Amino acid sequence: MVTSYEFDVLVMGAGLAGLRAALAAHQTGATVAVITKVHPVRSHSNAAQGGINAARTDRGDKWEEHAFETAKGSDYLADQDAVEILAQEAGQDILSLEHMGVIFNRNEDGRLGTRRFGGQKRARTFFVSDFTGQALLHVLYEQVMKAGLPVFEEWFVLSLVKDEHGHCGGVVAFEIRSGRMALFKAKAVIIAAGGLGRVFEPSTNALICTGDGMAIAYRGGAPLMDMEMVQYHPTTLRGKGLLLSEAARGEGAHLLNAEGERFMEQYAPNMMELASRDVVSRAEQIEINEGRGINGCVLLDCRHLGKKVIRERLSQILEEAKSFANIDLTEEPIPVCPGMHYIMGGVKTDVEGRCWGPAGAWQGVPGLFAAGEVACLSLHGGNRLGANSLLDTVVFGRRAGRYAGEYAKTRPHPRISDGVVKDGENGLKRVLARPETDDTVARIRHEMGRAMTENLGVFRDREGMAHAQQTIAGLRERWNRVAIRDKGQVFNTGLVRALELDFMLDCAETIALGGLTRTESRGAHFRTDCLDRDDEHWLKHILIYHHPGGPPHLDFLSVRITQWEPQVRVY
Ligand SMILES: Cc1cc2nc3c(=O)[nH]c(=O)nc-3n(C[C@H](O)[C@H](O)[C@H](O)COP(=O)(O)OP(=O)(O)OC[C@H]3O[C@@H](n4cnc5c(N)ncnc54)[C@H](O)[C@@H]3O)c2cc1C
Repeated sequence: MVTSYEFDVLVMGAGLAGLRAALAAHQTGATVAVITKVHPVRSHSNAAQGGINAARTDRGDKWEEHAFETAKGSDYLADQDAVEILAQEAGQDILSLEHMGVIFNRNEDGRLGTRRFGGQKRARTFFVSDFTGQALLHVLYEQVMKAGLPVFEEWFVLSLVKDEHGHCGGVVAFEIRSGRMALFKAKAVIIAAGGLGRVFEPSTNALICTGDGMAIAYRGGAPLMDMEMVQYHPTTLRGKGLLLSEAARGEGAHLLNAEGERFMEQYAPNMMELASRDVVSRAEQIEINEGRGINGCVLLDCRHLGKKVIRERLSQILEEAKSFANIDLTEEPIPVCPGMHYIMGGVKTDVEGRCWGPAGAWQGVPGLFAAGEVACLSLHGGNRLGANSLLDTVVFGRRAGRYAGEYAKTRPHPRISDGVVKDGENGLKRVLARPETDDTVARIRHEMGRAMTENLGVFRDREGMAHAQQTIAGLRERWNRVAIRDKGQVFNTGLVRALELDFMLDCAETIALGGLTRTESRGAHFRTDCLDRDDEHWLKHILIYHHPGGPPHLDFLSVRITQWEPQVRVY
């Protein structure tokens, strides 16, 4: 007897994007459920520190300025219609979050407070100390509980299912606690499964950020877009990947080289430490490569901010610095280096969250929606501005939820054969039945992470990326044979890690392919063998389609420009 559930809208992922989408879909009158591989408040959104952007037009800020800085930050790869929606709807979403119960920091005059973040001239980042993501996620989870929406916690989604017309009709998933597999039928599925940070080692991302959603959509027929665009954050702890939030520089911290110079003067004389992340990360890497670093790092100096500011506004990183580097930020600068942080690319999605395009434009999967880091609208283009991602999750999570809810009203109940569950079970049985070898999932995962970091980091070239591509292909062969020691059903975390690795290898492959295809330098994709941005040929997105049994298929889409023609990008 196959276990099956049915909802109008099923949301995969319980981070900020997923929870926001679920609430919005519920408000359309749809029946909604959320499915997540970890407890909702353990989603990576919980780790977001610095804040969330919005231009409050009632205070003299202009949404157009926020939109322009986002487009410039993206190195003009962002689709500007999407950026305009983000910037226009931001203020209202911050207020809704406040009304739901998020206790944002306030100014001396009692109004919602802001700090400055990179790539932006104005202070428009709203924040809750330096644990903004946690504050937002807990409040949204409360709202989901209040609405009584079912949340399938610790259920691992394996694949999409489609009806006979190729419409998405739900997912197949198994409960990690029991190994029980089930079919979740839905008229619309929203993928909000977060990023893929752990394809690189180290990364600021939680261990669960393994690109499952991207790989599942990709295998289901949706294209991945601009996967080569990988963000390195300028201030992470070397070797550990732990993030020291941009909030530190937002509050005024300096970056120093071994000679004690504020080296950003050379690279971004106007914006200094608050230039966009790709620019600051490259500057640091050049300082380190040219011998002006300290043991592979530069220094982040907060001392002049004073103890009060550090303790009140940077409490989490104060603690992190003490626990993980034994450094008291109020007394000493801390060594930092660029570290993998975010993926700008993802499942190609339109401004309503749909993962299928108008006839003749691009293909995808009707009935499938995506929101949050897993999606690529493209808002962030070649480089995301700090504090725009939390905003992306709430604005486009809400929109995807609403459109998915409305879409579900127009659809019949999906007809899906129970056989898909048997296929899922058989697939897992085959993985568990593999004969013992010396290889391990952990080893393959580690080698993949190193290959990606070495060849697709801050600086790239053809040779390195081709090497990574070959390495990934070899690791894929090894994955096909690697055995899982635990053969049980109950909390088989070995199996879960193996399945995540399977997804990560797909993501790694598309990142390398995108990088090799884009023969220019733009945003975070900086090629030492093609130094310039090439608007004539590359003002376009790269779409990668899965092609079972053969190499992936490439396609291209022009960037949508509304108000801001590409300019030379200086900070
Ligand atoms: C350390 C850190 C600090 C950051 N700070 C900021 C900041 O200050 N401001 C900002 O704007 N951005 C910040 N970001 C980026 C931002 O936090 C993320 O991009 C955003 O929170 C992603 O939200 P999400 O809802 O898309 O995904 P996530 O919060 O990652 O949630 C993904 C969900 O998908 C589920 N899932 C995944 N795979 C499966 C599967 N196979 N089956 C079932 N469920 C699955 C997970 O269980 C989880 O619930 C930061 C990121 C990091 C790593």
